[in-house]
Amino acid sequence: MTGQVAVVTGAGRGIGKAIAEKLASKGAKIVVADLNVQDAEEVAKELSEKGTEARAVAVDVSSSESVKAMFEEVVKGFGGVDILINNAGITRDSLVLRMKEEDWDAVLNVNLKSVFLCSKEAIRLMAKKRYGRIVNIASVVAFMGNPGQANYSASKAGIVGLTKTLAREYASRGITVNAVAPGFIQTAMTEKLPENVKEEMLKSIPLGRFGTVQDVATAVAFLASPDAGYITGHVIHVNGGMYM
Ligand code: NAP
Repeated sequence: MTGQVAVVTGAGRGIGKAIAEKLASKGAKIVVADLNVQDAEEVAKELSEKGTEARAVAVDVSSSESVKAMFEEVVKGFGGVDILINNAGITRDSLVLRMKEEDWDAVLNVNLKSVFLCSKEAIRLMAKKRYGRIVNIASVVAFMGNPGQANYSASKAGIVGLTKTLAREYASRGITVNAVAPGFIQTAMTEKLPENVKEEMLKSIPLGRFGTVQDVATAVAFLASPDAGYITGHVIHVNGGMYM
């Protein structure tokens, strides 16, 4: 990936940060894109200190204006983009009967609409070079469902359909589009779950442990590499066997 430019959304912490670090370790230049600009700047600083060309960009991935502005900045700073990792995501959990319409809309906008908006801008740039790698972060709940996560599981299932359609639409331009579906990964997002829920989940994982951010970043880095050039429209499950 030496010299390639990677945009990683939600890279200020958690899985996105680990993906940014992994791609940087393989030689990519990194755009650390996050709603939380302070976190993004800190990650960009850490990467720069290790010799990576990195810059932080403040973005709200659910806003088309903000996404367009980010890609303008990417073009100004780096000249284009080779790799896009659509990682930013949120949860607003509750059972359907208690779920507020605004929680449905927020999750669908940040998790799913964002993939449409960011991919659209990136594909314009990638198509010119006839090369691109897009990796979308889905979730095991897209395949299994999960009580309390109607909005989240619908958004992640939507990502799977969108991934396959983008893969078919832009294969002829040398752009591959795949997804990674993590299971239960130890991050701030899962930290807030009640202990009894975590214990129950652990029982359903054949490999007997929760995943790490590195487990996810490794799969993402493979799909984002030139080596994965004959793989498109696929989902790699990183879940310890929780769903097969
Ligand atoms: P996280 O720790 O909550 O990090 C998410 C990052 O995305 C945060 O830095 C957050 O910024 C940023 N973000 C939120 N809304 C945004 C927006 N509108 N625009 C730009 N950035 C925004 O989450 P994570 O656990 O690393 O999860 C990363 C991805 O993996 C998500 O798509 C998630 O759904 C998926 N995933 C996670 C798990 C898991 O077990 N953790 C499992 C399956 C899938 P703020 O700091 O401002 O909130």
